Amino acid sequence: METPVRLCVVLPCYNEEDTLEYSIKTLGEELSALAAKGSISGGYRVVCVDDGSSDGSWPEICRLAQAYAGRVAGVKLSRNVGHQNAILAGLEWVARQDFCDAVVTMDADLQDDISAIGEMVEKFVRDGCDIVLGVRCSRKSDSLLKRHTARMFYDLMKNSHTPVVPDHAEYRLMSRRAVECLLQYGERNVFLRGIITSMGFKTAMVHYDRRPRRHGKSKYPLARMLNFAVEGITSFSIRPIRSIFLIGVVSLVLTLSVGIYVLAAILLGRTYPGWASLMLSLWFLGSLILIALGIIGEYIGKIYLEVKHRPRYFIEETVGGE
Ligand code: UDP
Ligand code: MG
Repeated sequence: METPVRLCVVLPCYNEEDTLEYSIKTLGEELSALAAKGSISGGYRVVCVDDGSSDGSWPEICRLAQAYAGRVAGVKLSRNVGHQNAILAGLEWVARQDFCDAVVTMDADLQDDISAIGEMVEKFVRDGCDIVLGVRCSRKSDSLLKRHTARMFYDLMKNSHTPVVPDHAEYRLMSRRAVECLLQYGERNVFLRGIITSMGFKTAMVHYDRRPRRHGKSKYPLARMLNFAVEGITSFSIRPIRSIFLIGVVSLVLTLSVGIYVLAAILLGRTYPGWASLMLSLWFLGSLILIALGIIGEYIGKIYLEVKHRPRYFIEETVGGE
């Protein structure tokens, strides 16, 4: 590419009032340094997507859009639609504007090392990669709980053949073309890191270190992380449904051997009152049925949400667009 890349950075923001000033300032410095080096064009933009925050995030975004006029833009969603949809809303909005060749998405708290942006741009410009994934070098900055649950999450993803790159979250660069292709996916339950890694196109990785959060607190407590893991697996894999059949076959084999044992006991005249075994098998089979129903329910629930084809989000207000 001959002219410098026009870069946009999309930041999903949910109750990030305390973080935004620091994030925009720090990001602005980094992007200005890249522009000064000629890696990106001076007309870069940072787009903050307010994901239905209940704090003062939106007034703060408006204030920053004024203070950094032409550099910072804002998109306010009508309600909280979640991290994934907020990113998608930002990407869709950016794709409608005429100021960008490539988009970087990252969390608004700048936990991800922004110095990797330069390397991402290089891979886009020099190597012609449409997708550049930011991958964490280590999880040292995470709590013990987060580290272990993340490991379990990626193992589960791998075993259920869900296409994710371990330790890559939402920090990535996408070319305008890749964004336009991403926007063609019509599903309501978006699991971006799975969709994007399964899209094809020339893809590269950039490794970086993640810092602890400076302001505010994490919006991903354990329950939300578990929900996200289930979303991820059921968005991409029907293996859990298949495994129900296998579990059924195994328990049938077990039942047959129990049957043979019981028959032998009767023939030998060694019958027992049987209460314990009856109770045990009742509970065992009961739990298998419940697990199986739960997994099927998860997929049926997904079908239910998808067939309604409801809009993912509504944009209530924007600031700093064209
Ligand atoms: N976020 C969002 N909508 C939500 C929850 C989170 O847009 O419903 C944003 C949040 O503002 C942040 C990013 O998603 O920019 C990641 O959230 P957080 O930093 O709380 O997650 P963690 O780093 O703890 O995994
Ligand atoms: Mg964070």
